[in-house]
Amino acid sequence: MHGLMMDLPLTVTAIMRHVERAYPDEEIVSITQDNPRHRYTYAQAFRRVRQLANALTAFGIRPSDRVGTLAWNDHRHFELYYAVSGMGAITHTINPRLFPEQIAWIINHACDRMLFVDPLVWPVIEKIRPQLTQVEAIVLLTDASHMPAASNVYCYEKFIGEHQEDISWPDLDERTACSLCYTSGTTGHPKGVLYSHRSQVLHSLFSSAVDALALSARDVVMPVVPMFHVNAWGLSYSAPMVGAKLVLPGPKMGDGETLQNLIETEQVTFSAGVPTVWMALLDFLRRSGKRIDSLQRVVIGGSACPWSVMEEFEREHNVHVHHAWGMTEMSPLGTVNQPIRGTDKLTSDDRKTLRMKQGRSFFGVEMKAVDEAGEELPRDGKSSGVLKVRGPTVCAQYFQEDGPGPAHAEPGWFATGDVAHIDSDGYLQITDRAKDVIKSGGEWISSIDLENAAMGHPAVAEAAVIAVPHPKWSERPLLVLVLRAGHALTREEMLEFLRERVAKLWLPDDVVFVSEIPHTATGKILKSELRKRFADFKLPE
Ligand code: AMP
Repeated sequence: MHGLMMDLPLTVTAIMRHVERAYPDEEIVSITQDNPRHRYTYAQAFRRVRQLANALTAFGIRPSDRVGTLAWNDHRHFELYYAVSGMGAITHTINPRLFPEQIAWIINHACDRMLFVDPLVWPVIEKIRPQLTQVEAIVLLTDASHMPAASNVYCYEKFIGEHQEDISWPDLDERTACSLCYTSGTTGHPKGVLYSHRSQVLHSLFSSAVDALALSARDVVMPVVPMFHVNAWGLSYSAPMVGAKLVLPGPKMGDGETLQNLIETEQVTFSAGVPTVWMALLDFLRRSGKRIDSLQRVVIGGSACPWSVMEEFEREHNVHVHHAWGMTEMSPLGTVNQPIRGTDKLTSDDRKTLRMKQGRSFFGVEMKAVDEAGEELPRDGKSSGVLKVRGPTVCAQYFQEDGPGPAHAEPGWFATGDVAHIDSDGYLQITDRAKDVIKSGGEWISSIDLENAAMGHPAVAEAAVIAVPHPKWSERPLLVLVLRAGHALTREEMLEFLRERVAKLWLPDDVVFVSEIPHTATGKILKSELRKRFADFKLPE
């Protein structure tokens, strides 16, 4: 058909072009190891982005190559996002908090050709470097005067060096791969989620809408969710796209005092992160009596948000909290809790019940709860089932897997592994998790890996690990053991045994010994039954 609209591709390069023209003087402020307050404008940032892209091309990076980052939220990480994707290569953000063996596995699986590493993470990477089979060069994200005494690594500022500020960005198809992020939120090895330019632009548009994050050029946005975790919930693209000032707290994301100071001095209006970081901030505010008066809205997700956190933010600081839900596989936002017409007429109890829900999906995300036969359940606010989603920002298949796996068993839908109900207004409530993992302070712990490690002890006949609610970390692992006849084992001996085999963060908070673990008809551990049995279990302080 002739006479249609322009077919301009939706790309991250287009976001960059727009920001440079429309908001060149808006600021990005960051904390880095070498500078307690780095400050420059979007125009300056994108000049360095072009230099970096020229440096990467000179090094030999080509379209669709993977470039890994192990970095906190700061301006250099921001530059990598746009330079790597803008040249048609793939920004692969890696979680530096993972166990070193897992980091090595992910880097090798993604075939990263280069790594850009924060100096604070360098000691971990230095140890696993011999295992990294495809990595040709490592660049440390700092300047020459802060380089550690390390051999065979480049300095970021020198790497950019005198490269040209001019570039002619390639004309990318919007379906070109843009960035990659692995999730451990399923069983087995971590799985790669490969975002396209189109999905990133659409996610930025969908998620910044008024009934989602409601982002605007009047905002000062501080993502306290890491840029290595699904592009800081997309804020690395959506905040610049709307012309917001960006405040990046670097390695200080769990530090209440730094967050308060940034909010006050940079006049932050909007922030987002997992419940654990807000508890640290609220704790600091309580102890210090300091204020966060500029802050208007906080989006909390990644784990269920406790009512006490919402209430304290609102009562003490006049900050409005929006509960949200999403997944790495969804770019990541799926729902945000915003009021609808009539919400103000609800009783305070009903309003509280509503506010605790994960929210409504915005345009671009379709969802349904299904029963065991796969039939869609009524939207009655009580029929719980496995939650499935679809949309242009939802992963269609994991990176480098042969064909769709179990999560994509129903064509065109992605099974989230969450169990939920949806009410007649479309509000989602997560009620349980079908996938066998624990989420502690926003990080995944694999119950299966923990169980396998525990089973390695000769006294153990059967091991099960379940999540137990925890006031600070949302969830912590509890190890349930059945011992072999005639064997004895104490809690301390088991923990000592595990200490050498798993990351410190993964160590179960407690070990309980039982005579029997419940099983399904097919012989699998009945985790739902165990979770019920230990729902009120008090973990040691
Ligand atoms: P990730 O891929 O690491 O972002 O983790 C996504 C998973 O975190 C979801 O599938 C849920 O199990 C969990 N999750 C995210 N947000 C929430 C929330 N608001 N309430 C409860 N669970 C959540």
